[in-house]
Amino acid sequence: MTNTDDHSEHAGERAESDDHDDEGTGDGSSQEDAPDGPGTVPEEGRAVATETEDAAVSEPPADPPSGAKTAAEPSDTSVGSTGTDPTTVDGGHRAAGEPSADGTNADADTDAGGADADPGVIPDPSPEGSDESLGEIDLDLDEVVLDDEGGDPDEASRGLFDDLLSGEPIFENKEVLRPSYTPHRLPHREEQINNMATILVTALRGDTPSNILIYGKTGTGKTASAKFVSEELESTSRKYEVPCEVEYINCEVTDTQYRVLAQLANKFIEKNEEVVADRLDELGDLAERIGSGSGADGPVADTEFADREALEERIAELEVDQESFEPVPMTGWPTDRVYSAFFDAVDYHERVVVIMLDEIDKLVEKSGDDTLYNLSRMNSELENSRISIMGISNDLKFTDFLDPRVKSSLGEEEIVFPPYDATQLRDILQQRADVAFKPDSLTEDVIPLCAAFAAQEHGDARRALDLLRTAGELAERDRTEMVNEGHVRQAQEKIELDRVVEVVRTLPTQSKLVLYATTLLEKNGVHNINTGEVFNIYKRLCQEIDADVLTQRRVTDLISELDMLGIVNAVVVSKGRYGRTKEISLSVPIEETEAVLLSDSRIGEVEDTQPLVQTRFDN
Ligand code: ADP
Ligand code: MG
Repeated sequence: MTNTDDHSEHAGERAESDDHDDEGTGDGSSQEDAPDGPGTVPEEGRAVATETEDAAVSEPPADPPSGAKTAAEPSDTSVGSTGTDPTTVDGGHRAAGEPSADGTNADADTDAGGADADPGVIPDPSPEGSDESLGEIDLDLDEVVLDDEGGDPDEASRGLFDDLLSGEPIFENKEVLRPSYTPHRLPHREEQINNMATILVTALRGDTPSNILIYGKTGTGKTASAKFVSEELESTSRKYEVPCEVEYINCEVTDTQYRVLAQLANKFIEKNEEVVADRLDELGDLAERIGSGSGADGPVADTEFADREALEERIAELEVDQESFEPVPMTGWPTDRVYSAFFDAVDYHERVVVIMLDEIDKLVEKSGDDTLYNLSRMNSELENSRISIMGISNDLKFTDFLDPRVKSSLGEEEIVFPPYDATQLRDILQQRADVAFKPDSLTEDVIPLCAAFAAQEHGDARRALDLLRTAGELAERDRTEMVNEGHVRQAQEKIELDRVVEVVRTLPTQSKLVLYATTLLEKNGVHNINTGEVFNIYKRLCQEIDADVLTQRRVTDLISELDMLGIVNAVVVSKGRYGRTKEISLSVPIEETEAVLLSDSRIGEVEDTQPLVQTRFDN
């Protein structure tokens, strides 16, 4: 019926919107919470336990302890060696689907399963056998286990997993180093957090807090602080039973007015449904008590209802409301309708709502300021509720693009998150490292070096944590027991290279051509490349792939842009009476850069035109 439909649509929407909440705490804490599970791989453990229950039912109940033992065994072997046991396959899927799972592990798991299914790999004369056993798990579980133990062990896959499991792990809990983890203590953000709290406490008094605009470069703790404050706000509001709610939206993901409003509408509709359902339960109980009473109005006396009829009327009303809640589909409605659905949902009962719009600059960039305009005007029309907006922006100048009315309304209060310096980054790293790593697994210089590198990167705590995590992973791969300075330097290179690859990959075609021209020159041993040389090769490349040829002036601009992105280094040199020119050199590794450029299908076409450069010099 409609209800079911509603529900599934709703669930779809939630899946999307919950993404961020999950990122917030989900995986980190669940890992932490299960250290006493049956072994190091609780997920598998659980899956196997279910399996055994089935087996126990169909097998003679003569020997329950051995049944239990069988249960433990496949969980061990499934991690250690083959994937014949269905639980391994299961585990593989879970790992692959889990954002927190280590990529390599997940791959390895799945690969092992695949290899096993491949008859060529198993030295089993009847490869069909294992498939059959999959079909009849109950009967063949023991057999499968025996196969694993007694059969010819697959050396390759065994070594693979043994390697992963052997040795002391460096990490105690890697999750806390991931960006998705929300720490509960945020050193060096006390001031900002207090400012937010001072403004938002108004909500707990039932009034509307001023709108807040938070600014700061990436990695300065804006999201983490905002989430922390919102959790505190909600928990305090529950404690004092004040109706105050916080909704968090990441506008990088939810980047149109439609989607923002639809997501908000659905969140409130869902909350309203809960409220109504609870209320109906309550009133139902009350009605029952009265029903079993004498039938007089006596029992209604100390309730809000004048008489039985009033109570029944209220119940009927709520039931009508319940029927009328209709989730907003993620596309298809006119925006007006989405807006009024949101409006009605918020105004359904009395409350103060704080709407956090993270990465608000992305929303404005993509869809303009209509959303903010509509949201900031709502309070004058709402009857029961009030909303307050907290915008978070990485771009310090984004308000320049706003309608002046929106700008002044949104920026009633402004809080700036300055970049961290190296000392502050050290504190942040130390606090996380204490939880993330086994004791004594970092040499003394690891944290200071991570902090120093990240401080150069505009004081980005995300970068600092990435460095520390990557350094730990590299150390783990080295099978050393300690992370050292060398690992941090390697990590820095790796992250830097990843960044370069990403920047180059997303360049516009014209810039790619200019960059490719530069790499061609450099590869042919040309030093002190000047703009004219780049332009000539660039022109040939354009002709080659039928692209528009920009003027030399434009190309000079593109070179400056590449310089700003840190991809090339262009210095202006004076040539005496011949004027001035730029000397250009690549600041990124040439091989990787070239590979990324050639992976662009258009530029890939010119791969074989190296003689271009030669021609140029023959001239
Ligand atoms: P922003 O939203 O400003 O880009 P985030 O809040 O996402 O930055 O922070 C980036 C990373 O650094 C997150 O993993 C966050 O937990 C961590 N972080 C930032 N500031 C602090 C702090 N003061 N204490 C602890 N961790 C922090
Ligand atoms: Mg953020």
